[in-house]
Amino acid sequence: MHLFARRYDTGQPVSLEIARGKITRVTPCAPECVPAAHWPQIAPGLIDIQFNGYGGQEFSAPDITPQKVAHIAQTIAAFGMTRFCPTLTTQRSDVLHGALRAVAAACESSPAVARRIAGIHLEGPYISAQDGPRGAHPREFCRPPDWDEFQRFQESAGGRIRILTMAVEFDGAPAFVERVARSRVVVAIGHTAANAAQIRAAVDAGARLSTHLGNGSHPLLPRHANYIWDQLAEDRLAASLIVDGHHLPPAVVKTFVRAKTPARCILVSDMSGMAGKPPGRYQSNLCDIEILPSGRLVIAGQTELLAGASLPIGVGVANVVQFAGVTLAEAVRMAADHPAQLLGIDAGGLSPGDPADLVLFDLVEPADSRSAGRFEVRATLVGGELAFGSL
Ligand SMILES: [Zn+2]
Repeated sequence: MHLFARRYDTGQPVSLEIARGKITRVTPCAPECVPAAHWPQIAPGLIDIQFNGYGGQEFSAPDITPQKVAHIAQTIAAFGMTRFCPTLTTQRSDVLHGALRAVAAACESSPAVARRIAGIHLEGPYISAQDGPRGAHPREFCRPPDWDEFQRFQESAGGRIRILTMAVEFDGAPAFVERVARSRVVVAIGHTAANAAQIRAAVDAGARLSTHLGNGSHPLLPRHANYIWDQLAEDRLAASLIVDGHHLPPAVVKTFVRAKTPARCILVSDMSGMAGKPPGRYQSNLCDIEILPSGRLVIAGQTELLAGASLPIGVGVANVVQFAGVTLAEAVRMAADHPAQLLGIDAGGLSPGDPADLVLFDLVEPADSRSAGRFEVRATLVGGELAFGSL
């Protein structure tokens, strides 16, 4: 297979040769002798570590099946993603076990599905039960951490839980964090009401990420002593950010990215299972929701309270360029290299020998200087095979 595209990091037009699932040759092209202006950009495939479901199906639901997991795993290529973390939010214990088993069975029955699932993200149930921090997670199932139960979750998942998002203000939280981190699971702080000392203790114990920093929090906080500043200032924590234009105002995105530096930022979509459905009113297993024409996913009957996210990670790539003034290369790394580094997996690249897990896309120029461009996926390759679009 032979591709012509412009590198996302340098803009250099290149010809790429792909064979047996890998990039075999990369040859720079002279810009003047090719119609390179019309070539798509090319980058390593995007990796979304927080993806709750798609097309009306949540992973964390009683009716999830291995077939549905496999179907969603195929669908992600449409968003330029080559790998992702199915994310299971707080639910009844039997629902969580069923969902973990469904993801595990989907991976076991198909190497193609297993390749796309970089690990399961368990978001909860060990989170704050307070309104605000718990977000849309059902209060009745929020509870303190329990190592034996976590081990049973991990057994149902066949050892595939790679990220655990938890609150860190519980008694004994540091010891629990340490055990989880030692089991090669990334501990992420989220849906929390922890104070400065509790956050520091969790990070000392091995927590490495803040989950969707700035969301899943109280609407009002003390101006200085609060868990957002404490996590922002903690250089040992990376931060995942939902940059869909709805969850964080542009000024907050800019401030967070500057404080963390692009190298410690990870873009996530946090896409709800309701994403992919047309604007309208729907029932989820939590509450009535509404997808507005703008794509904003809200609790039905009003426009402010968010019930989840509905826009893919590429929207975040384009937005973060506009909101935080980072380069396209930095933005793509936030959605490809940094999540891979967090999980300790190969991020891929654009060099001979790298896996041909690639996205070809256009960054469509914004209509005016105040709006963001559009990330339009032309094609996604997984293991050298066309998984979405056309070449
Ligand atoms: Zn969340």
